[in-house]
Amino acid sequence: MIRKVLIALGSIFALLAAALLVVIFFPQVLPPSVPNPWAALAVKPLRGGAYWVQGGISNTGFIIGDKGVIVIDAQFFAVTAQHELQQLAKLTSLPVNAIILTHSDPDHVNSLPAFPRGTPIFAHENTKADMLAALSDPHIRWISRPTPEMKNYLPTQLVRDRLELDVDGVHLVLLHFAPAHTNGDVIVYLPALKLVYAGDLLTPEVGPYPGIHAEKHGNSAGWIETVRGMLALDADLFVAGHGELQTREQVQVRLQAAQQRRAMIQSMAAAHKSLAEVKAAFADPPLTGIASRFPTFTDTTYAEFTGTHDSP
Ligand SMILES: [Zn+2]
Repeated sequence: MIRKVLIALGSIFALLAAALLVVIFFPQVLPPSVPNPWAALAVKPLRGGAYWVQGGISNTGFIIGDKGVIVIDAQFFAVTAQHELQQLAKLTSLPVNAIILTHSDPDHVNSLPAFPRGTPIFAHENTKADMLAALSDPHIRWISRPTPEMKNYLPTQLVRDRLELDVDGVHLVLLHFAPAHTNGDVIVYLPALKLVYAGDLLTPEVGPYPGIHAEKHGNSAGWIETVRGMLALDADLFVAGHGELQTREQVQVRLQAAQQRRAMIQSMAAAHKSLAEVKAAFADPPLTGIASRFPTFTDTTYAEFTGTHDSP
């Protein structure tokens, strides 16, 4: 009897191990909506000591100062964050002295525990509230669930509208304009480098329109206000949360596209068109990858104008 159980357990273990090896070496077997923790990272220099890290699930960044490194956003998976730290170690032996979070989505915060415990963490106060809620949410999807260790990595320095600071010789301005992608968005502005890390306020990988998390009180009008605020800064290079770097002109095009789309949805909602009719009029291609799990800009904006929040 015991022998049979052991054999059964052994076969289950062997099957799981084989599946894991297949996923590690052939990640393309994963359906496109499942993130791949082993995706390659590319660390790319921007200006001064500023870099952006492309790959993983979301883009991240770091700035090498005179005594330490400022990290912008953590990765989704610990293995990706460890990979990023290994890449960083090739550039400098300085320690990570600060972490700044652009917002609370799990692909930007969940691997904070891969960083040294006790590192100051800067974020908007609503981002801290979202992170606390995620720790205790029994309904959160397994892939979005933070580890219990996250309770030791909650933001320690809170931003409301604006926080100017100098870290290791780097002058930074953290700005929150309005609820946009979430109600805890913070952009990182480096005036000396004319550079902005924008987090998921900019997601060119997903398409021409913004992503709004209505469940985190994001808002299309706030997104427009935020991007106008961003464009009012003396900056000409913008690091997106997902996808390629953006120029001023590209950000302006995104702003115009969102304004136009929002105005059209507003007038169609006022004419009592259904969401299906609105979507049929636009005939957008479906979102791909992780983005396919989330409502589109049309879904969330229509819900804003009609007071319905039952979009997918
Ligand atoms: Zn996000």
